Amino acid sequence: MLLLMIEKDMPIDCVLYADTGMEFPEMEAHIAKLDDLLYRERGIHITTLRHPHGFEWLMFDEPKQKPRCLENRARLGVPPYGNGWPGIKVRWCTGQLKTHLISKEVNRLKKEKNGLHYIGIAADEAHRCKDDPQNRYPLVEWGITEAQALQICYDRGFDWDGLYEIYHRASCWCCPLQRIDELRKLRHHHPELWARLRDMDNRARAMFGLGPLGQFKKDWSVERLEERFAREEAQKS
Ligand code: SF4
Repeated sequence: MLLLMIEKDMPIDCVLYADTGMEFPEMEAHIAKLDDLLYRERGIHITTLRHPHGFEWLMFDEPKQKPRCLENRARLGVPPYGNGWPGIKVRWCTGQLKTHLISKEVNRLKKEKNGLHYIGIAADEAHRCKDDPQNRYPLVEWGITEAQALQICYDRGFDWDGLYEIYHRASCWCCPLQRIDELRKLRHHHPELWARLRDMDNRARAMFGLGPLGQFKKDWSVERLEERFAREEAQKS
């Protein structure tokens, strides 16, 4: 969306990016490359929004405050800090690391500058659009699907160094909500990140035990996945 907006000479005052701190290195390099282009073409830099303490602090260290939560934790023998692994029901990460940060800044700009918010939702995911007079969805208006948007990026030399050739989705590499097959690929293509994930999960299990906060995936710890993937590999060879 941004590349086309630049090409079509559309006004751009600010580009927001929420960095969870758990992005693939290829994504970080992509953002830096995009920032170069934006600066060259429009003289502005991407505004990166970050939680002041980050993913791992929220996962392991954030002090809990609500009395009911503290009572529950004391009863279950769970420490009074840290949110543990996010799950489908308690997906604390998306809100704290992305949507709250973006919404706060967007609402400020809408109010103070009467700004319009351009959002890169593609034509084949239009059900995600919200009915707000200050929102714009150019890809939906132009009828550009997700696959077409990716091709438009490739055609202009933005290829994430092949990240989207490997993974179905390229959000946080540590996401417990990703498919098992994506984790198999993480172990193969990004062994250094896989090693970090194993450390995080060992720490989570030691701290939160077998309950949902210490559970990476239903029925699967990262160590058990490591054994499974290693076994599969040994069977192949
Ligand atoms: S990608 Fe996964 S871990 Fe990252 S913010 Fe989204 S749900 Fe949370």
